[in-house]
Amino acid sequence: MKATQNQSIYDVIISGAGPVGLFLACELALANCSVLILEKAENPHSLLKQMPFGIRGLSAPSIEALYRRGLLQELEVHKRLKNPHLNAVQGPRRQAGHFAGIPFHDGDIDTSQWKYRLPGSTDTSLISEIEELETVLSRRAESLGVQIKRGLAVTDFHQTADGVTVQSGDQTFNGKWLVGCDGSRSVVRKAGGFEFAGTEPEFTGYSAKVDIADPEKLKPGRNVTPTGMYLQSQPGYLAIQDFDGGSFHNSGPVTLEHVQEVLRRVSNTDVTISALHAVTTWTDRARQATTYRNGRVLLAGDAAHIHAPLGGQGLNLGLGDAMNLGWKLAATLQEKAPEGLLDSYDTERHPIGAQVLDWSRAQVAIMKPDPNARALNAIVRDLMNTPDGATYFAGRVWGVNTHYNLGGDHPLVGDSVPNFEFEDGATIGDLMHDGQGILLDFDRNPSLKALASEYGGRIKYSSGNAKDRLALSAVLIRPDGIVAWASDNDQQTSELQKAAARWFVGRSGS
Ligand SMILES: Cc1cc2nc3c(=O)[nH]c(=O)nc-3n(C[C@H](O)[C@H](O)[C@H](O)COP(=O)(O)OP(=O)(O)OC[C@H]3O[C@@H](n4cnc5c(N)ncnc54)[C@H](O)[C@@H]3O)c2cc1C
Repeated sequence: MKATQNQSIYDVIISGAGPVGLFLACELALANCSVLILEKAENPHSLLKQMPFGIRGLSAPSIEALYRRGLLQELEVHKRLKNPHLNAVQGPRRQAGHFAGIPFHDGDIDTSQWKYRLPGSTDTSLISEIEELETVLSRRAESLGVQIKRGLAVTDFHQTADGVTVQSGDQTFNGKWLVGCDGSRSVVRKAGGFEFAGTEPEFTGYSAKVDIADPEKLKPGRNVTPTGMYLQSQPGYLAIQDFDGGSFHNSGPVTLEHVQEVLRRVSNTDVTISALHAVTTWTDRARQATTYRNGRVLLAGDAAHIHAPLGGQGLNLGLGDAMNLGWKLAATLQEKAPEGLLDSYDTERHPIGAQVLDWSRAQVAIMKPDPNARALNAIVRDLMNTPDGATYFAGRVWGVNTHYNLGGDHPLVGDSVPNFEFEDGATIGDLMHDGQGILLDFDRNPSLKALASEYGGRIKYSSGNAKDRLALSAVLIRPDGIVAWASDNDQQTSELQKAAARWFVGRSGS
């Protein structure tokens, strides 16, 4: 069969129109890159992307990222929902999240430990639905000129020093760069020879929509039992963990009889499932690409890392990859990238991914049905009921403690910028819709203004009066909202010059 050669050369071809591929496409297109997404599925709609299977908890960095691009207000699902994973109790004993099924509570969290988190920050957690998120992101991507071709799976690719030829069956497409956002079984990862290192699973997880003849036999909420875990998020919607070494996952069709047998064993009841409407399985296999870049090919999202969905971190991790990669790849394409900028994607995101894999492994380790795990579980439970314990777990689960090790003297460097609110009611997040860097100067220092102007539009200068400036004098913010430099007084401009030159190319090209 003769291959159909498409003539256009795209700046970036993305494999996969999942949430990560779509968000990355939005970031690239915002920076004026031409983007083609090839998506295997013809139909973007699927039962598994809708309630309740498609429910995903968003954490602070994802919520901030969506807010900073003006996308948060387009998500509606969370407004109709309470988090079904949490109990309905309000007040200080309201469950705020969990680790290995052990709850931590609002009233125990000492937010004063998060010194740079302002009261007007976006939420720390939010319920979303994959289908709605993808719809919002697709709409934004297409409005920015991204082409999405559905029903075209990437089957192979070939890269040279100048670009990548991507194959989808008998068609080929040309791009300067290729990013694999094609999920856990990524073809880009496999065809690109990326090593995917990690650990094998302990359990098979099930998400199922069922009719239960005698639902009173199951306890409500999340139940960690001596043989696994079961959760009824709503009547008829089940999540089960069965510690079978992951052997059942992908071993064949999942029948009603099988789900009932697993549920009975895990719940230690004789509950009866009268109908199985939909079911999917998953595991706690934890693997991560040892590098996220091979020449002109990059990985992001589940293509780069997989782990158990316990505590819901995978989507958040992937959206973080996209926010970190988008502006760096765009600057590289447009020859506006200081040396090493693109490599900092791997340097910054790989350790964050490794932390999330370990977080998921630690949960599995204390959920196992054995006496050692039970003993550890009890100790963790005690710690989580202390203010320091609850604050630590909330900081990790909500991503509030996410930090890149960028060096620099100020503790804020490498953190997400606080959501400063100005006197006119606008926030720093509102200034970030265009994806440029910002030099925020609370002291109106003329030399800072002059420095920003050397970077053309790539660093916007802003001198607003913040309602609470947290004793800061000035802050340099990268396009992804990460603090590149901060100062408590207006004297340290030489450090600012170094930081600006590390992340941005000036008018003179240096
Ligand atoms: C039960 C469960 C609950 C979860 N809960 C949470 C949660 O609460 N919070 C959270 O953060 N995460 C959660 N996750 C994880 C989260 O769903 C994933 O991490 C996230 O969907 C990854 O997004 P992605 O875009 O990288 O990959 P995907 O969502 O897998 O999208 C990949 C896309 O690529 C396409 N594709 C595949 N192969 C090809 C190909 N060869 N060519 C072109 N296209 C291709 C696919 O069709 C798909 O559209 C959960 C996961 C599970 C299983």
